[in-house]
Amino acid sequence: MRRALIRLLHLHGTNMAQARKDLGNLSPMQYRVTQEKYTERPFTGKFNRFKEPGTYMCVVCDQELFKSDHKFDSGCGWPAFFDSIDPKLIKEVKDESHGMLRTEVLCAKCGSHLGHVFNDGPKPTRRRFCINSVSLKFVAPNGESIVDEGNSR
Ligand SMILES: [Zn+2]
Repeated sequence: MRRALIRLLHLHGTNMAQARKDLGNLSPMQYRVTQEKYTERPFTGKFNRFKEPGTYMCVVCDQELFKSDHKFDSGCGWPAFFDSIDPKLIKEVKDESHGMLRTEVLCAKCGSHLGHVFNDGPKPTRRRFCINSVSLKFVAPNGESIVDEGNSR
């Protein structure tokens, strides 16, 4: 909790109250994934097979990350995108945990864990952003938003 708060303080300046509010709004599963780098179980996420047109934002800080136009069905069990709205919105970090060499994907604005990116995606980018459903907030063109709170266990 403390490390996450420090990261959010960076985002909000010294506004501790706002930072606590942002993290306090998360469900237990959203918190575990975005702040503790947990991975939701495959094929459980609300956005895994979700195909509505719209924009996907960071569930913690509302930064726009992906468009539905970037989404494809990878069959891997998590929402997959072949591109982001802008590479500057996403931070990529080498991840050697669990005996694998992977590239972790974080929200560049608030540092929340989103998922991983692999180089086995479709053309034109050949990239596959494999993103936890609970890390995302979907916003439809009419402004309605949907979040995936996960199963809380
Ligand atoms: Zn964020």
